[in-house]
Amino acid sequence: MHTRHHLLISPSLGTRRQLASFHFGAPGRGEKVYIQSSLHADELPGMLVAWHLKKRLQQLEADGALLGEVTLLPAANPIGLNQNLAGQALGRFEQMSGQNFNRHYPPLAQAVFMDVCGQLGPDAAANTRLIRDSMKKQLAQQQPVTELQSLRHTLQTLACDADVVLDLHCDNRADLHLYTGTPLWPQCEPLARYLQACATLLAEDSGDYPFDEACSQPWWQLRQLAQAGGLTAPIDAACLAVTVELRGESDVRHDLAERDAAAILHFLQRRGVIAGEAPPLPPLRHPPTPLAGSEDLLAPHAGVVVYHAQPGAAVASGELIAEVIDPLGDQVSEIRARSGGVLYATSRRPYATAGLAIAKVAGDKAFKRGKLLTA
Ligand SMILES: [Zn+2]
Repeated sequence: MHTRHHLLISPSLGTRRQLASFHFGAPGRGEKVYIQSSLHADELPGMLVAWHLKKRLQQLEADGALLGEVTLLPAANPIGLNQNLAGQALGRFEQMSGQNFNRHYPPLAQAVFMDVCGQLGPDAAANTRLIRDSMKKQLAQQQPVTELQSLRHTLQTLACDADVVLDLHCDNRADLHLYTGTPLWPQCEPLARYLQACATLLAEDSGDYPFDEACSQPWWQLRQLAQAGGLTAPIDAACLAVTVELRGESDVRHDLAERDAAAILHFLQRRGVIAGEAPPLPPLRHPPTPLAGSEDLLAPHAGVVVYHAQPGAAVASGELIAEVIDPLGDQVSEIRARSGGVLYATSRRPYATAGLAIAKVAGDKAFKRGKLLTA
């Protein structure tokens, strides 16, 4: 293992943050895997998983069992980790700009296509190398000017040439679930099985450029641009990028983290990044569903929330999920699933302001358009 430190732009006189990345295996040998955690800095289950992965990867490397390259960032957001207000961690949005740390990664497909369209050939692997070199070149030409931009730029530069990108997050209260690109489901399915994900939400374009899509989306966009330009050169979906939601914010436990780290390593073993035969695939808990089919159940008014269903539960159409109780006006509203599916996440606060999203249900029929992620 070797360690690298990446200096971010200093936001103010007398202070400068740095990002640490840990590197295992030999570059250029086998697949490259990139794993980061806590990009939303107050989401800590992934940080504990990363720590378990770090120890396991050091041992695998010492044993000569690492057949690929792994880059690991257990604390991907040093800016957010030090944002607090009145004792509360504020890790989702940068205080300076108000921007979500997991949005606004610059899309690369158009610039890369202009750069490589004259050089694409019949060899898909050669095209992948060409495209990755161009991605690195496009990113090297960008000049971040804020600390947040330099964080995004550093993360994207470290990840852009990976075969597998795992971005470890969590929800408020949730069962383990995944977000990935629709074209990536066949590659993602073994991960969903090993991690025992209760839901996998698929989209080609979630809106606002989250980190996982910044890594994976260029590949199918390049394919579309090539086809539109009349090119027949094969372009693989060469980056499996997945946002892994490791349950809820409070689910920071060694038993869960050890299990999740083992599941990720089994998945990498199956891909040939780790020597040996991977364990048999467990059954899939639930088929993938479109992100555009995810129901956001909103509180119709303010009040105390009482949940009647727990994350991970299969819920039928019309099933009672929660009550919102206004003890001043005596209004009691029942929140019911519309189409039904898997209740994969809920709010963590037992108090709702009017319009607050208090539960999310993965349904199998797409009905939403436009931006699909919560702010
Ligand atoms: Zn998150």
